[in-house]
Amino acid sequence: MPTVTLLAHTPLPAGTVAAAARLCYSNADIAAVSERMQGERADEFVRMLAGLGHESPIEHASFTFGIEGVSRTFLAQITRHRLASYSVQSQRYVDKRDFSYIVPPSVRENPEALAEFEACMRRCAESYERLAELLSGGDPQKRREILEDARFVLPGACDTRMIVTMNARSLRGFFRQRCCRRAQWEIRAVACEMLRLVKEAAPVLFENAGPPCLAGPCPEGKMSCGRMEEVRAAFRAAEKE
Ligand SMILES: Cc1cc2nc3c(=O)[nH]c(=O)nc-3n(C[C@H](O)[C@H](O)[C@H](O)COP(=O)(O)OP(=O)(O)OC[C@H]3O[C@@H](n4cnc5c(N)ncnc54)[C@H](O)[C@@H]3O)c2cc1C
Repeated sequence: MPTVTLLAHTPLPAGTVAAAARLCYSNADIAAVSERMQGERADEFVRMLAGLGHESPIEHASFTFGIEGVSRTFLAQITRHRLASYSVQSQRYVDKRDFSYIVPPSVRENPEALAEFEACMRRCAESYERLAELLSGGDPQKRREILEDARFVLPGACDTRMIVTMNARSLRGFFRQRCCRRAQWEIRAVACEMLRLVKEAAPVLFENAGPPCLAGPCPEGKMSCGRMEEVRAAFRAAEKE
């Protein structure tokens, strides 16, 4: 299972957002606006902004996550979200000899598929090692230089870790797409855990955050999972935990 940690976030996220938004409509100086926009007053103001569709002030609150135990396949998906900052473990500089890998649940539940999967991982590891030996001639310094070519045979299942920062507006868009049942299982698991963590840190900024069916009808048309009630119930239950 992936491990997701909320490493850091903007201090007083709701107050910062509320002050930024209040500034737009006020004659008062920034210190006065910031002082007034704290606690419940900030929460009320953030709710009012959401009602108005004034979304840009929530960009002032940022959240930084550590994500571990995920596949390179996951990496390819999350980095499509361009309004974010990423630092990812390098396969160019980190030797992936004896790499760990992520097993999809469908494979784990099927013994024959699991045996095939594990055999494939062993073959990839052997080829990686063999290529590293052939290209470096056994020279450790050269080995470090040629890892960038040996890594071409590493699979999408190969594990990785990363630090990701997104602001609250970008996160809300990310949750809309990736907490939905149509999203692939691994990124959905990570997105749902990220949502749980930011809801603890800044509840008012993430009210109704999650798949679009939490706040209204499903927009997926023919692709809809058709299980909106189940999804809503699951998210409501997660909020109470
Ligand atoms: C279920 C699912 C299936 C998918 N299948 C595929 C697939 O088959 N193939 C594939 O290639 N991708 C696929 N994707 C990825 C998808 O197309 C997006 O690239 C990804 O979800 C990132 O979304 P985004 O662009 O909204 O996010 P971000 O890049 O974070 O952008 C956020 C928002 O900023 C705005 N924005 C950002 N950059 C620009 C820009 N250059 N111009 C204008 N507006 C911009 C847009 O409003 C955008 O929604 C899939 C995603 C999901 C959830």
